[in-house]
Amino acid sequence: MNTPIAAFSTVSASQDLLPREVDVAIIGGGLMGCACAYYLSKAGAKVLVLDKSIIAGQQSSRAWGFVRQQSRDEAEVPLMQASIEIWRSLEHELQTDLGWRNDGCLFVAGNEAERDGYESWLTVARSFSVDTVMLSPREVAKKLPGYAVPQLGGLFTASDGQAEPTLVARAFAMRARELGAHIVEQCGAKGIDVAAGQVVGVETERGYVKAKTVVCAAGVTTFRLLKMLGISLPQQLVRGTVARTTPGPMLSGISTIANGVGFRQRIDGSFNIADDAHVDVDMTLGHLRALHWYAPSLWVHRKSFRFNLNGACLTDLRQRLPWSEATRLGAGIHLRNPLTHPNDKGLGMAMRALKAAFPGQVNTHIADRWAGGIDVLPDGIPVIDAQASPRGLAVATGFCGHGFAMGPIVGKTLANWIDSGDPGLDMRQLRLSRFAEGDVKPPSSLF
Ligand SMILES: Cc1cc2nc3c(=O)[nH]c(=O)nc-3n(C[C@H](O)[C@H](O)[C@H](O)COP(=O)(O)OP(=O)(O)OC[C@H]3O[C@@H](n4cnc5c(N)ncnc54)[C@H](O)[C@@H]3O)c2cc1C
Repeated sequence: MNTPIAAFSTVSASQDLLPREVDVAIIGGGLMGCACAYYLSKAGAKVLVLDKSIIAGQQSSRAWGFVRQQSRDEAEVPLMQASIEIWRSLEHELQTDLGWRNDGCLFVAGNEAERDGYESWLTVARSFSVDTVMLSPREVAKKLPGYAVPQLGGLFTASDGQAEPTLVARAFAMRARELGAHIVEQCGAKGIDVAAGQVVGVETERGYVKAKTVVCAAGVTTFRLLKMLGISLPQQLVRGTVARTTPGPMLSGISTIANGVGFRQRIDGSFNIADDAHVDVDMTLGHLRALHWYAPSLWVHRKSFRFNLNGACLTDLRQRLPWSEATRLGAGIHLRNPLTHPNDKGLGMAMRALKAAFPGQVNTHIADRWAGGIDVLPDGIPVIDAQASPRGLAVATGFCGHGFAMGPIVGKTLANWIDSGDPGLDMRQLRLSRFAEGDVKPPSSLF
C-alpha cells in the first residue's frame, strides 16, 4: 500500500467485532474521526470508528506537517488559534511523542507580488490578535542562517509550529480505544440510515450498527456518502506530493516556504519537502461534476494546478464498469485504497530549490516519498457541522490541504457540539448548508 504508515490494529481486522449499538458512529479514521472519537470517549460516549482501510492511511499521515495559523481564511482563524492552544499540551494529553515543535512558520517573499500578498494577511492577523509579523530581509536572514536566495522579507508567526502526521491520528485512536472506543479497520460504511428525518444507524460491510449520531469524516469519499442522503457537496480531488530526506545538519525548526519549496526539519535533521506552489489534478470524468462551482476561481488560481491527462482517466472509466472494485464495494466506499503516485519531477525541483537556497548546507537525499489525495471545496474552507440535516448527522470534511493543523480542535469542537449541543465557537461560515443556500465566497486559496 502506498502509505507512509502501517495498519493500526493489533488484532486481525477481520476479528474485530462490531457493537450492535453506539451513541456515535464515526465514518473515517483520519485525524478528524480519531480526534472526535477521543474527545467523545473522554466525555463518556460510546463510540465506534469505522475505516474502510487503515487508521490515518490517507491524508492524515501524508501531510507536510505544518501547523499554522498564518495565511488562513478568516473563517478558520479562531479555530486555528484554539487548535494551537491544544497542540501546545497535546503530547502531554495523549502521553506520547507527536514530533511537536513550536518554532514558528515563515513564508519568505522572493518578489514584490509575494511580499504584498503576505503583507495583506497582517490585517487579518491584527483583527484576531494573532502574533504574525512581517520580517525585514535582515530578520529573515537571522531566522534562516545561510539562506542565499535574494529575498524581500517574510511573513512570520512565532506561535505556529510543526508535528508528525504519521503519529497524531494514531495517538488519538490509541487513547480513544483505551477509553472504550471501538476502532475498526477494513470495515467501510456503506450508507447512513435515516428514519423520519433522524439518523438511526450506519450500514457497514460487517452489518448494521444503531447510532443516533453519525459523524461523516470520510475525506474524499464524504460527498459520495452524503449524496445517498440527497445532499450535494461539491467536493473535488487534487494530488499533493511530499518527500522525507535523510538527516542533515540542523538549519531551522521553522516550518518554511521559500524559493518555491515548502520544508520543515525534524529533530533528527531530516526534512519533509514539497513543491510549495503546485498540486496535480489528474483529470477524470469525476472532475466534470461540480465544475461550475470551481470554474470562476480556476482561472485566478490556475498557476497552482498541474492538469494531467494520464492513467487516472482510464482508471476512472474502468471503475465505472459493473465488475469494477468501485461498483462491487458500492458508492459509499468506492475504492478501499485509492492509488496516489508521487510527482517525482516536482520533488526533484523542490530538492534542487532547497539545495540552492542553502548552498553547501543541505547534503541530504530523498529517503521516502509519497502522494496524497487532497479533498477540496470551492470556497477553500472545510465543512464542520454537527447541526446538519437530517438530525444526528455531523460532517467534517473538505479541509483543502490544511486540515492537519486543525485536527485537534475539529475533534474537540465536534465532540462538544454533539455532547452538549454547543460547539463553543461560531461555526456558521463552515456549515454544510452554505452550498445549497449559494452562500459561498470566492476562495483565498483552493488548497
Ligand atoms: C500531501 C499533503 C500535504 C498536506 N500538508 C498539510 C500541512 O502541512 N498542514 C495541514 O494543516 N494540513 C495538510 N494537509 C491536509 C491534511 O492532511 C488533511 O486536511 C487532513 O488530514 C484531513 O483529515 P481527514 O480525517 O478529514 O481525512 P483523511 O485523513 O483522508 O481520512 C479519511 C478516512 O476516511 C476513510 N473512509 C473513506 N470512506 C470511508 C467509508 N465509506 N467507510 C469508512 N471509512 C472511510 C478513509 O480510508 C480515510 O482513512 C496535507 C494533505 C496532503 C495530502
